[in-house]
Amino acid sequence: FVRERTGASSERPPLTVLAGPTAVGKGTVAAYIREHYPEVRLSVSATTRAPRPGEEHGRHYFFVDDEGFDRMLATDDLLEWATVHNQHRYGTPRGPVLEAAARDELMLLEIDLQGARQVRASMPEARLVFLAPPSWDELVQRLVGRGTEDAEERARRLETAKVELASAEEFDEIIVNDEVPRAAARLVELMRGGA
Ligand code: 5GP
Repeated sequence: FVRERTGASSERPPLTVLAGPTAVGKGTVAAYIREHYPEVRLSVSATTRAPRPGEEHGRHYFFVDDEGFDRMLATDDLLEWATVHNQHRYGTPRGPVLEAAARDELMLLEIDLQGARQVRASMPEARLVFLAPPSWDELVQRLVGRGTEDAEERARRLETAKVELASAEEFDEIIVNDEVPRAAARLVELMRGGA
């Protein structure tokens, strides 16, 4: 299965991207970092999806309608963007990313794979980290366990996940999400410029 791997560079990157297949726990790792590592700045994405209970505008996402998203595209405000799971559009506002890089702050983007590829193309100095599940069975369990998708949608996401797992090799680093606190600590270590 996908093994944890460390890249060659031990330089502190201006920007770190965390991506990985559906249900691997990217959001959970990002939430853990938000809570336990205040020195890490998390990019706040714009999205056309509706807020879930407990989500705050400006903290978890900027919730915008389709017209609002179109405006951000028209003014070239987004560093990258994608339609995720054929449903809603998500994008990273460019301004805060540039600001964090200028201030030498630790900046983390938790985005999907399409977005990670765009960041690679436009900011080659960004570090791309792939979060992998410990096993295929574990990924299936997590998707079923969170219970947010119906059977048809789950099947669709698992098909996508298979393809996505194969793209781990494009990434600078691979972290296996066996335990959230360990995976988060490893990620922050990499962000600080550790090898
Ligand atoms: P959720 O709706 O569950 O918060 O996120 C769904 C998916 O959208 C996740 O895979 C997440 O990584 C991705 N996502 C969130 N923000 C962005 C973004 O700004 N750009 C891209 N490309 N994907 C994003």
